[in-house]
Amino acid sequence: MTNRINMHALSPEDRIKSFDEVNLGYRLQDALLEADRCLDCKHKPCVDACPVGIDIPGFIKKVAENKIDEAYHIIFGASSLPAVCGRVCPQETQCEQVCVRGIKGESVAIGHLERFVADTYYEKEHVLHEFIPTNEKKIAIVGSGPAGLSCAHDLLDKGYDVDIYEALHEAGGVLTYGIPAFRLPKTIVRREVQSLIDQGCHIHYDVMIGKTLTLKDLSEMGYHAVFVGTGAGLPKFMGIPGEMLSGVYSANEFLTRVNLMHAYQKGATTPVKHGKRVAVIGGGNVALDAARTALRLGASIVYIIYRRSKSELPARLEEVIHAEEEGIIFKFLTQIKEINGDADGNVKSIRCVEMTLGEKDASGRPRPIENPKKQKVIPIDEVIMAIGTTPNPMLIQASKDLKATSHGCLVVDENTMETSIPMVFAGGDVVTGSATVILAMEAGKKAAKAIDERVSLHHHFAQKS
Ligand SMILES: Cc1cc2nc3c(=O)[nH]c(=O)nc-3n(C[C@H](O)[C@H](O)[C@H](O)COP(=O)(O)OP(=O)(O)OC[C@H]3O[C@@H](n4cnc5c(N)ncnc54)[C@H](O)[C@@H]3O)c2cc1C
Repeated sequence: MTNRINMHALSPEDRIKSFDEVNLGYRLQDALLEADRCLDCKHKPCVDACPVGIDIPGFIKKVAENKIDEAYHIIFGASSLPAVCGRVCPQETQCEQVCVRGIKGESVAIGHLERFVADTYYEKEHVLHEFIPTNEKKIAIVGSGPAGLSCAHDLLDKGYDVDIYEALHEAGGVLTYGIPAFRLPKTIVRREVQSLIDQGCHIHYDVMIGKTLTLKDLSEMGYHAVFVGTGAGLPKFMGIPGEMLSGVYSANEFLTRVNLMHAYQKGATTPVKHGKRVAVIGGGNVALDAARTALRLGASIVYIIYRRSKSELPARLEEVIHAEEEGIIFKFLTQIKEINGDADGNVKSIRCVEMTLGEKDASGRPRPIENPKKQKVIPIDEVIMAIGTTPNPMLIQASKDLKATSHGCLVVDENTMETSIPMVFAGGDVVTGSATVILAMEAGKKAAKAIDERVSLHHHFAQKS
């Protein structure tokens, strides 16, 4: 049995000096060898484990035959973001976890192959995607993150006119302003967005629905249905002393300044602090992205402060390995209690307490318990909070009929993704709270199916107030 073929990557010494992508992808010979490892199982557990149901053995078979364009079209039939998902999906807990190859050895590197197929396809010039005649029905999509893009993709396939309204000046949502370029180059995101534009999707930038235009305006503009995929961009803070000091950021603000406003470039209009001793609070992908970004901005020491142990880290395994290789210091079983400032109001240190793990809590993970006798003060000059986000309340506040949970997440019918307003659908982080790219895409697809069914029955969005 051959071993799984790993991607080539930049060395840790080289990668921490730039925002260049760390993983270098497969060469053709790697992809052909890896594709040969797929057993093409009859029961295809990997397909069931993929939230958007990509025909994984089908596309891998085409790779093995060196028919990369055909492999791309198989993936694109189910997923509008193959190059993105090949890079950021947590495959180890989805398709690759159930891969039969993995029972006695290593699973097939499905994510690496998906990335290879998309990248190879995009390297070539292609004619535009097949033109599908319009059915003269228009749908408005609010937000251009994975949920909105995936909903748009499926509706375009069915012949709808699709208008995406995006609050920012770039499409992609978190893919553009959250996930750093060393993990997901922005050219890749733009290329995948371009595939939808090629299919006929219109994107209207700098339009904030709920402010620039209301849902009532969209109704008057004749849209048959609306899909809300506005994400969860409102950062949470802990409410501990010192959070207002200069040098404390939410990960969201820190990463947006760097990724979208290019704060690391000389003369950037939206600067960001280049801390030397940085503490990032949290253990998810967001925390690791912020920590590795701080390192690339010139920090000499970066801590991840996480209150549980390594086995509970929610971040993707690959990111944890890369972060360790780069010299990020993980302080497990550690809880921040206070941020101390100097006389000028700048961050000077953090006070932390040691934790132990108790019984499992409601989240299914062991409950962290403080040991007040074991406290320590760590000198720090920048703190980045990455402890989660909730949906931005703006649209919900502007649309009184939209029902939301106490956490600010939109309430939807789980089969159709319809909200409390008829013909207004929603999905992705705005419904679940911060989750994953592929789950947002799954929600967008589910809503597209329901929208098509309802519009076919002559239902029409009509918002009076
Ligand atoms: C730093 C970071 C790293 C991550 N890493 C990973 C990872 O490795 N793997 C993974 O699977 N997931 C990862 N995630 C999570 C993943 O990116 C999100 O779950 C996913 O992007 C959610 O998609 P969405 O479409 O629901 O929302 P978003 O991606 O947040 O997109 C929402 C869009 O709506 C726009 N918008 C908001 N309000 C309005 C309005 N009123 N009018 C118009 N437009 C509006 C926003 O500007 C944004 O473009 C990460 C998240 C972050 C922040």
